[in-house]
Amino acid sequence: MTDVPTFRYHPDPVGTGEVITSDAPCRCCGRHRGFIYTGPVYSAEEVVEELCLWCIADGSAATLFEAEFTDVPTVSDDVPRPVLTEVLTRTPGFSGWQQEHWMFHCADAAAYLGKVGYEELLAIPEALEMVQQGMASYGLGKRDDYTRALSATGEATGYLFRCLHCGTHLAYSDHV
Ligand SMILES: [Zn+2]
Ligand SMILES: [Zn+2]
Repeated sequence: MTDVPTFRYHPDPVGTGEVITSDAPCRCCGRHRGFIYTGPVYSAEEVVEELCLWCIADGSAATLFEAEFTDVPTVSDDVPRPVLTEVLTRTPGFSGWQQEHWMFHCADAAAYLGKVGYEELLAIPEALEMVQQGMASYGLGKRDDYTRALSATGEATGYLFRCLHCGTHLAYSDHV
């Protein structure tokens, strides 16, 4: 059996819950490979969930369905185009409450680590601060009640990333 693909920008897609162990066939290659991606697929065609990791890693799922697996915000020009392509078309995405968006640092995409809540963010002050800054940019101010309500499984959630170069944690939040 081929080794399970690894993803530079989504190192543990099973741990983040976007990939499950399943005997379901892949919608792209039709094979039963044991791992099925259940995260978002943005495609002009019918929703094509249930993709294996191999078809995501080699780009065949993105090509067949003209699909992307996440959204990227406007990023600075120093992020190379191939990085954006890899994040959009060859990396498992993640499901948020609102349109998800990837985060970037040091002229590269950051690694997505998973959903977090207030307790986890307390342990990573730089990430907590970034979440609060994000809220401030929406005119929400530093609403402590909102921050404290953040939960990996609740109705307001934080999304944690880490820079692959300097190790800085990045995070944003959204809610139902
Ligand atoms: Zn497949
Ligand atoms: Zn960095």
